[in-house]
Amino acid sequence: MFRILKSAIRNHKFAVASYATQSQPLTSPDVLYTGIFIDNEWHKSREGKNFATINPTTSEVIAHVQQAGPADVEVAVKAARSAFKLGSPWRRMDASDRGVLINRLADLMERDKNYLASLETLDNGKPFAMSYNVDLPMSIKCLRYFAGWADKNHGKTIPMDGDFFVYTRHEPVGVCAQIIPWNFPVLMMAWKLGPALSTGNTIVLKPAEQTPLTALYIAQLIKEAGFPEGVVNVLPGDGSTGAALAQHKDVDKVAFTGSTEVGKLIQKASGDTNLKRVTLELGGKSPNIILSDTDMNYAVETSHFGLFFNMGQCCCAGSRTFIEEKIYDEFVERSAERAKKRTVGNPFELTTEQGPQVDEEQMNKILSLIESGKKDGAKLVAGGSRYQGLPGYFVEPTVFADVKDNMRIAREEIFGPVQQLIRFKSLDEVIERANATEYGLAAAVFTKDLDKANYIVQGLRAGTVWVNSYNVLGAQAPFGGYKMSGHGRENGEYALQNYTEVKSVIVKIPQKNS
Ligand code: NAD
Ligand code: MG
Repeated sequence: MFRILKSAIRNHKFAVASYATQSQPLTSPDVLYTGIFIDNEWHKSREGKNFATINPTTSEVIAHVQQAGPADVEVAVKAARSAFKLGSPWRRMDASDRGVLINRLADLMERDKNYLASLETLDNGKPFAMSYNVDLPMSIKCLRYFAGWADKNHGKTIPMDGDFFVYTRHEPVGVCAQIIPWNFPVLMMAWKLGPALSTGNTIVLKPAEQTPLTALYIAQLIKEAGFPEGVVNVLPGDGSTGAALAQHKDVDKVAFTGSTEVGKLIQKASGDTNLKRVTLELGGKSPNIILSDTDMNYAVETSHFGLFFNMGQCCCAGSRTFIEEKIYDEFVERSAERAKKRTVGNPFELTTEQGPQVDEEQMNKILSLIESGKKDGAKLVAGGSRYQGLPGYFVEPTVFADVKDNMRIAREEIFGPVQQLIRFKSLDEVIERANATEYGLAAAVFTKDLDKANYIVQGLRAGTVWVNSYNVLGAQAPFGGYKMSGHGRENGEYALQNYTEVKSVIVKIPQKNS
């Protein structure tokens, strides 16, 4: 089984072969850091508050973590502001040396990969095979990619009318708040830190309350790597900590990944305070379109992976699979068979494909959406209940057929292991139905016909469109949403723009030498 998993990982280019060597997880990794990280030091909550982080596999408390309140936010923003001051070590540092520091952080994460992957699995519940072979390598590569950009993000000289020499400077935006979710804790941290540090910003990062542990360990690695004080501050806390950052008048930019509901609040907080720059990476209800000429085995397997990967907790999950009429029945049958074979269980077992959902709240939300699917008349062909026999928050791999566009399960983000199979007849019809959503994060098309693929690609309103593939992400390719899936792009050269202010410098050139 693990061989299958490894080949799935390789097929989807999630990891290069060298990363796929298996390591034995630490099934109870020590929790070393539970404080608030400001100015390269560990602090206690100034309000004396803490919160529990839970192991979703067992529903037991792993540790209590300090909760950053408004007073801690104040101190952290001040530290980041002070680290950003002109003349500070960070601002005086050569751009190439910023790259060296980011690479050093990547090296330390590589050194501690087994520990970090184990801690990620403990706190989040994702299979260790994924933490170790997907999340950690992708995070390390992301940092290395942005390390390379540090001394290459340069301005232009511009032939402006008149006797002027005009050039642009690419300057950092300033103090950046980064609020991240729990579905890929390390990876989302790397996606946020990489471009922000590469371009010379300072950071106050808030991990999700469900999964703070790996971010706190990485904070210590940031110190070990040699980043100056105050460049990266990490504040564990809940939505109230995030809201305090989003409302703060001395924060220049907020970058957020999470729900569309909270994304709206963050945008509003910016408008109500200082119009801080906002980038948002929000939800999705991504269409995955299967044409009848496709290779059936490959399309079934890749669509299964496109939805069930990471327990369905992916913003780009292919949660509306549109199947051309001619192959619909066979596709349904095979998808149900595949879901029934999915190995659910202890995420530290190397053969496990599916661990628990991140917490009880998410599990209950998924179960209630499954009930709505049953009630609305979708045909349940696999799963449909809480997974029995394990104490944590497990949900059976679930497949609904005969799903109609207006059902809740076809409209709302489920963020769980629930696949929706939908029938279609013609290309124009499926493009229109695929786009009939408030979201626009990702989409896919499976076909051997290049003309049809290109026709569909141009018609889809989504930030990423995969052709004959799904969930292929990498540091080099931009990722982000159309419509209510957010704005701005993470990864790739485009991500640098989100962390850069452009300054035009207009210099008078004397025409006479006097
Ligand atoms: P959320 O949006 O509430 O949480 C994401 C992050 O935002 C966390 O760090 C959280 O503490 C913080 N946050 C919460 N309220 C905030 C506020 N008012 N101001 C600033 N920050 C705030 O997500 P959730 O409640 O954990 O999950 C709800 C749903 O969101 C999920 O079911 C899923 O549909 C979606 N979601 C999407 C992603 C994604 O990758 N796009 C990730 C997580 C959740
Ligand atoms: Mg929430």
